[in-house]
Amino acid sequence: MLRVNQTLRTRQRGAAIRRTALRLLDWFDRHARDLPWRRTRDPYAIWVSEIMLQQTQVKTVIPYWTRWMRRLPTLRHLARARASTIHKLWEGLGYYTRVRNLQKAAKVILTRHGGRFPETFDDVLALPGVGRYTAGAICSIAFNQPTPVLDGNVIRVLTRVFGIAGDPRTRTVNARLWTLAEDLVIASRDNATRGRRDACSRLNQSLMELGALVCTPRQPDCGACPLAAHCFARRQGRIEDLPNLRPRPAATRRRFAAFVVHSNGRYLVRRRPEDVVNGHLWEFPNIELNGGSLETAARACLRVKTAAPRPLCTIRHSITRYRITLDAFTVEPEGPLRFTEGRWLTLPELKRLSFPSAHRRILEQLNGVREPRSP
Ligand code: SF4
Repeated sequence: MLRVNQTLRTRQRGAAIRRTALRLLDWFDRHARDLPWRRTRDPYAIWVSEIMLQQTQVKTVIPYWTRWMRRLPTLRHLARARASTIHKLWEGLGYYTRVRNLQKAAKVILTRHGGRFPETFDDVLALPGVGRYTAGAICSIAFNQPTPVLDGNVIRVLTRVFGIAGDPRTRTVNARLWTLAEDLVIASRDNATRGRRDACSRLNQSLMELGALVCTPRQPDCGACPLAAHCFARRQGRIEDLPNLRPRPAATRRRFAAFVVHSNGRYLVRRRPEDVVNGHLWEFPNIELNGGSLETAARACLRVKTAAPRPLCTIRHSITRYRITLDAFTVEPEGPLRFTEGRWLTLPELKRLSFPSAHRRILEQLNGVREPRSP
């Protein structure tokens, strides 16, 4: 009896997987957005798009990706590009380790794979900066392999449709979600015999697309969802509860002061070390404020006594769990600067460098006008 029940459950689960895969494929055929990286099967172009999409939304990525592909159209171009070029192309996307890993991986592909993008999941996974999600995305989208993907959008769809109530970040629940994602992409491959091309690629993209456009974190558009008829969360009124994510740790507030020092048409800037947040990028000298006067902070930062700093602008931004306020000031040193790690550059020279977004906004204040970012 037990075995009969188990067989029945396995059959029911298999039917639910096949039905879900088919509905997703049908929906994607009709609703897929026309995105530039969807017009190619070039694994390099798809890889770049996937890494950029881990940073921000599709509409922000489109101009970045387009510029990148125009400037670095092949792996070889990326492998040979100057560090300043790749950072400039990435400027504003954040998480600059990712762009450096892209270049490291391009070099690995040139040396270990003869310049040909590897096609096996394990070889792709072994590249610097490539995790299970990215390897799955590249192998399925570029090579139509049944390799699953699981990101925030996919987790939301799967936990809601299949009623998975545990915390997706725990090992057991996460493993269960990967298995589910894999079963779906395998089911799509088996459906490919019914005349669908690129079924694995399209299945994975349909899950990501549904999570991005329809099954959104708040107020999902269930009326437009191809999975609505069989969705656990919708039936049970549990949409708000799923996925069951622990609340994020409270944000920490931090306050910094940046100092704009100007002399003979040049401004003092310094380059951040490679192994810190926003590594390799340029910035105006700055220091975290932990009480004490502004003059003391300016002296500690610039190692010279200054006249009273004059406010230039205030920039608020977030990095991971930090809510940062950056107050920028112009200052006039009262003596020679002993600031050794900086460079004095003109505005046109500064514009060619890569800055973190907050310091780019200080630079825009100096220009008086916002300029389009172009590498
Ligand atoms: S029915 Fe609603 S909650 Fe369920 S998957 Fe579709 S959009 Fe998400």
